[in-house]
Order: sequence, then structure tokens, then C-alpha cells
Amino acid sequence: MSDLVILGTDTAAGKTTFALLWLAAFADRYEYWKPVESGDPDSARVTRLVPSAVVHSAACRFAHPVAPPLAARLENAVVPSAAAIAAARPRPQKPNRQLLIETFGSPFSPLNECQLQLPLIQALEAAPVLIGSSALGAIGRTLQALVSLSTWGIKPRAVVLIGPGEDYALAEIRKHHEVPVFSLRPPHCWDVAGIRQAAREQQTIIEEIRGCLVDVPQPALNVTKVVERDRELIWHPYTSLGEADPPLVCVGAQDEFLFLADGRRLIDGISSWWTILFGHRHPPLLAALQAAAGQLDHVLFAGVTHPWAVELAELLLASAPWQGGRVFFSDNGSTAVEVALKMAYQYWCHLGEPRRTRFIGFAGGYHGDTFGAMAVSRDPVFFGRFEPLLLQADILPLDPPWLDDMLNRHRDEVAAVILEPLVQGAGGMRMHSPEVLRRIVEVTHDHGVLFIADEVMTGGGRTGTLWAHQAAAVAPDLICAGKTLAGGLLPLAATLVAPQVVAAFDTAEKSRTFFHGHSFTAHPLACAVAAACWQLLPAALATQVPRLEAFWKDALDPLRQLRRVKEVRVRGTIAAVELDVGGGYLADVAGPLRRCCLAAGVLLRPLGPVLYAMPPLCTSQESLAQIARAMTRAVADLG
Ligand code: PMP
Repeated sequence: MSDLVILGTDTAAGKTTFALLWLAAFADRYEYWKPVESGDPDSARVTRLVPSAVVHSAACRFAHPVAPPLAARLENAVVPSAAAIAAARPRPQKPNRQLLIETFGSPFSPLNECQLQLPLIQALEAAPVLIGSSALGAIGRTLQALVSLSTWGIKPRAVVLIGPGEDYALAEIRKHHEVPVFSLRPPHCWDVAGIRQAAREQQTIIEEIRGCLVDVPQPALNVTKVVERDRELIWHPYTSLGEADPPLVCVGAQDEFLFLADGRRLIDGISSWWTILFGHRHPPLLAALQAAAGQLDHVLFAGVTHPWAVELAELLLASAPWQGGRVFFSDNGSTAVEVALKMAYQYWCHLGEPRRTRFIGFAGGYHGDTFGAMAVSRDPVFFGRFEPLLLQADILPLDPPWLDDMLNRHRDEVAAVILEPLVQGAGGMRMHSPEVLRRIVEVTHDHGVLFIADEVMTGGGRTGTLWAHQAAAVAPDLICAGKTLAGGLLPLAATLVAPQVVAAFDTAEKSRTFFHGHSFTAHPLACAVAAACWQLLPAALATQVPRLEAFWKDALDPLRQLRRVKEVRVRGTIAAVELDVGGGYLADVAGPLRRCCLAAGVLLRPLGPVLYAMPPLCTSQESLAQIARAMTRAVADLG
């Protein structure tokens, strides 16, 4: 049996009434603690009305009968953080007793200047019971509270309506939620005897509620077994089947943290392959997912549409460098690129130039693992094996005159030029200036060739602007997005297409159809999450992105002095340290660097000699400092 935490659907829901009845029934098994109090202290009422109960003092108490942060402000004080309050939890005076912890207001009431009460409830790790008044509106209030709490991962073990019994309300709540629901009547007389009598009369119900708090034993996860079975059954991406390091067994995530089955907490320093944007299980995104899932799961996207795709398309196109245009949805970055390449070629076919079969990419570029994407990346380590199977593409140094020369030599043969604007990710977080990007796009367009911006990694504000290409004020003809598009919560990708490209397809003639589509094109849930994500981005761009960039610039500067360091690069939320060691992507240093960071509680995956971080936007200053310390230590330890 764990401690019990009482939550209210709102202020004056009956939390203290429930506490009084509970303590009157179980004063020998529970002790009372209200961590944060303002106004008339409930602790004093409990002491007065259930004299046999042990009542612990509040962690903080304020005299003014207003919200605790405001009451604190009026006393020139502050309410401590959720973690600090949880750490002040008293020990029950007797070993076989639990705490009955009463919260204030509603879980969504502000706790202090930056937190709601929710993180305190999470940190208390006690069994929650939701209390509501049985007065008119109880069904709606209770269901709303249950749904909002679930977006924070808080699942009450029971709901208790305080007031005259309302069978209709109980039945309706049960119909729409699996939580056990009870009703308790307040005492007729508000004195010691009255409370005792009300508790005695309702003892059976109170016992039943207590039954809901029994911890159902979860079968302990056998980590060794999971790893063993994983090794027998699963083929992991970019991992040799003879890999010596066992996989980490991840069982949870929140904000910038990953929780492992062995109890470790790691900072997700590379946002789970650059996907998680705001943070893991970001409540507004979970809420958007839940809301959409209540309406639709999935539907084919040929001949059918849905409001989430339309809303997202509007948001995406509003951020594009042209008026008009269209969005072609898919479900991963490689496919967004594949779509762009196919569309570019078909565009030329429609214009009567089918000889334009060449593509141009750049050294250090990476665009995905499907055939077209491999062809325009042509990384020898990743894709050398498939060289005989790849379509025609030239890989040039990232230099405008080289491109100009190439396009002069292959007039009327090139369909498109593709580049990851500002930061070439998988190639080693190689960075170029907006000026170089601008010149590359100018040269491409001067030759009448299409320019594809592969923003699968750089989109979503990672480099400082919503799209990286905006820093150079250029207008790509096709823009590929993926990874962060749905905040990293669900897979989703999109290819944004400029109006002049769309125009070449814009006819009822069947032969001009773009014959491409995937089972999960424009998945409704992913679109709903992405629309929520895209709406949050402007605010994050104004605050979080500059915060991360400023941190990296400052914190990684000293690394430049270390012997092995060739270069330190920062752009937006991305920080990279390139080491002066040979070996490219297969460099031996990658393993030791990764292991050293893991030992420091930070998950990073060096790209050969490039140790980099790209954490979620919510990452606290403290966690950023932990990442920077881990990187510095890992590099210094190489000697
Ligand atoms: N383009 C770029 C720039 C990428 O970084 C990646 C993935 N790292 C891709 C395309 C491919 O995306 P996905 O892994 O979702 O297929």
C-alpha cells in the first residue's frame, strides 16, 4: 500500500472533508500532511476535528487566503520547487503507517512562479484519489479532470464525489471512464463526534476506496532477458549484428530525460535521433493526440481528406517562401526526399525535358536510406555497397563556382540540386554560412534547375529560424520536412512544393498524376500533433532556441583549448565538437566518447570524430550544463 495523495477537481471540491472521514476511519494507519497551505490552515482543522490523527506541519504556509504563489509574493517569499517540497515529505511516526497527502486547489493551480502543482503530484509518487463535489456539473468536471490529468501521466485510482449521493452522476462517469467512482456524504455535524459518526456509517465505502489503493504487483522486468531476446530476435538500425555493447532498455521518458529499466535516468542529448522537439511526452502534444484519437484513428488519403491534414497544410504553407504551393505528406524523411526527387524529374518530363535525369548533391550530405536518397548522398561508408544500383548523381564540394561549372557542363541534363541548408547533419554536423547557401541557390536557379532544401533535420527551428533556408532568404522549389514535424511524438513527413512545380502537374490528364502514396500518408493523429507542434513553435523560437544557442556558445568555448579538438561549431540548438583524429564515421573514438557520456548520464551518439548535442528545447540549464560537462570530460579523457 502506498501513500495517498488527494487531488480536487477544483478548490472547495471536498478534499478536506474526504481527509477528515478517511482519518476518522484509519487514524491508526494514515498520518496527515498538507505540503502547501495558504489562508486558514486545513492542518489545524484536521487536528481539531480528528484529534487522534497525527498531523505533520506544512512544508510552506502563508497567511493570505489566496493562491500560494501570490500569498508568498505578498509575504516577500517564494514557494519552493516541486522537487524541494517533495523532498521535505515527513516520515510517518510509526513504521506501518502511510501518509495522506492533501494538495491545494486543483492539480492545475500554480505552485510557484514557474510550475503548476502537477509536477509536485508526480514527484510525490503517491496513489492519487480525485475528489469532486457532487453538485450540478459533477460529471463534466470529473471527466475533464481525468482527461487532463492523464496527459500528465496521472491516473487517479478512484474518484470520490462528496455530497448527497447522485446515482446518475456515478453511472455516467463509469460509462465514460474505467476509474472506480464512489460517493461520500459529508457529516451532518462538523464536530469530532459528527465526523466520527459519518465515517462509521460509511465505513464500507471507505474500505472499498482503500481497496483501490492496493498496489497490484507489476511483474518485475527482467532486463537481462529483454536484452537476450532482443539480441536473438531484432535487427537494429545502423548497428552491426556483432555489436558488443548491449542495447539500453528504455521504459519511459519525460521532458529531456529517458528512463532505463535498470533505474538509470539519462539526458536525451540528441533528441532521439533529432526527432523530439519540445521534450518527451510534451503535454500539449499528448493532449492533441488524445483529442484526435477520440475521433479518428486512420483513414486512407487517396480520395479522402481530414481537417487535421488541412490545418497542418495551412500552417506549413504559411511558413513557405512562396504564395500558393502544396504539401505532399508521407511518413519519414527518406520518403520526403524520395518524393522531392521523383517530383522534380516528373516536372521536367511534363515540361518536355525527360533528358534531365541527373541530380546534384554535396560532399558530406545525407538524405536518407532509400535508393533515391542514397544516390544523392553517396556516403561511401553508408552506401558504397549499393553504388552499382544507384541512379545518376554528382556529389560536389559545397562551393558555388564548382556547382556553376558542373551545371554549365551538363546543360539540360540536371533535374535538381539538393542540399541540407546550413547544417549537413549525419555527415558530421558540417556547417556552412547563409551566404554560401544563398549563392548555391542563386547558381542553381540561374541555370533554371530546381533546388530541393532537405530540411528533415534542420526544420522546426533547430538552426535558429523556423526553416534553415530562411536565414539566407532563399526560396527552394521543394522543401522536405520530417523528424520534428510532429514534435517527435509520431512519424510524419512532408514535401512542400512551390507553385510553379505544382502548375506542371495541375491538369485532369491522368498521365500527369504523381503516382506515389503510402499506407500512412497524412496519418490523422500525426497531423493533429504536428498542427499543435507548429503552433507552439513561434514562441519556442523566440525563447528556447536562443537560450540553447547562447548556452552552447558559452559552455563549449573552453573545449577549443583541448589538444584533440579541431573545431567547435554551434548553430541554433546544435553544438558539435570535431576531433582531430582519423577514421571518418568509423573512427575508433566514437565508442569511448559515447560510453564516457553515458557514464555521466548523457546519451550522445558521436558521428565518428564528431561529438555533438541537439537536445530537446525544454532542456533545463542544469541538464545543458550536464551535457557540456559530459562532452568536455569525454574529449579530455581521450588524452
Ligand atoms: N534527410 C536528412 C537531412 C536527414 O538527416 C535524415 C535522417 N537522419 C533523412 C533525410 C532521412 O530521414 P528518415 O530517417 O526519417 O528516413
